[in-house]
Amino acid sequence: MKVVRAKTAGFCFGVKRAVDTVYSEVEKAAGEKIYTYGPIIHNQEVIRDMENRGVAVLRSEEDLDRVSEGTVIIRSHGVAEEIYEKLEKKGVRIVDATCPFVKKIHNIVKENSRKGKHIVIIGNPEHPEVQGIRGWAGEKVTVIQSAEEAENFRPGEQEEVCIVSQTTFNYNKFKYLVEIISEKSYDVSVLNTICNATKERQTEALSIAETVDAMIVIGDKHSSNTQKLFEICRGACNNTYYIQTLDDLDLNQLGSVETVGITAGASTPNNIIEEVQNNVRIIF
Ligand code: SF4
Repeated sequence: MKVVRAKTAGFCFGVKRAVDTVYSEVEKAAGEKIYTYGPIIHNQEVIRDMENRGVAVLRSEEDLDRVSEGTVIIRSHGVAEEIYEKLEKKGVRIVDATCPFVKKIHNIVKENSRKGKHIVIIGNPEHPEVQGIRGWAGEKVTVIQSAEEAENFRPGEQEEVCIVSQTTFNYNKFKYLVEIISEKSYDVSVLNTICNATKERQTEALSIAETVDAMIVIGDKHSSNTQKLFEICRGACNNTYYIQTLDDLDLNQLGSVETVGITAGASTPNNIIEEVQNNVRIIF
């Protein structure tokens, strides 16, 4: 009987950094109010734990408008430039946990926008990371996530175009959309800003799912990267289970399998993965 745990299961570098930042601020707080601008990660367990330690989540700009003191932590997704300006005006303490890979995209789009280029962000316009990037890209900015949108994109006459990507976008789809856009403009610069953490997690999950009898994917139901991980694993292993915590796992369901693989989305804390791993081991 064998349990194979993916090395890349769980927090990526940027999420770990943001979560550690919150806990380290909690330690230092000494009664000072701490807020995160948006939930720090897509994981209810972690958010509840933070709330129990006095961290409040600001879910909108209206929530932010009501804050007059304390510390506001910016999550790994990053935020638009105007949010920094708003925070500075309020005089609250800003702790910036924007992932450096996302910060790099902010700098790229700001610099290229200053040069007069039309910024194209390949990504989901509803995703907070994309909304943040958009907020550094000036006036001429378009978000594209489908072939149809790429076909319909019309840059201005002789307009230079600079394309970047949401960090978690699928690479093949990015390439395909870039090809469509490149045919429309005389001058296109492309910066592949996709983060390898997601790809590496997916590649490892797939290679494990291909060799085991059952696969367990752990993560919040609202986490899009966990949903994607589940789809990939299920494609390779019919016996794949999507759970949020150990409570969701019916160990009898696993039946008489010989090998079980375990992976987890980018927002799944290590203690949850370990708890599942230890209990699966006991059964086998
Ligand atoms: S997926 Fe990559 S870019 Fe996004 S937070 Fe994690 S390390 Fe940063």
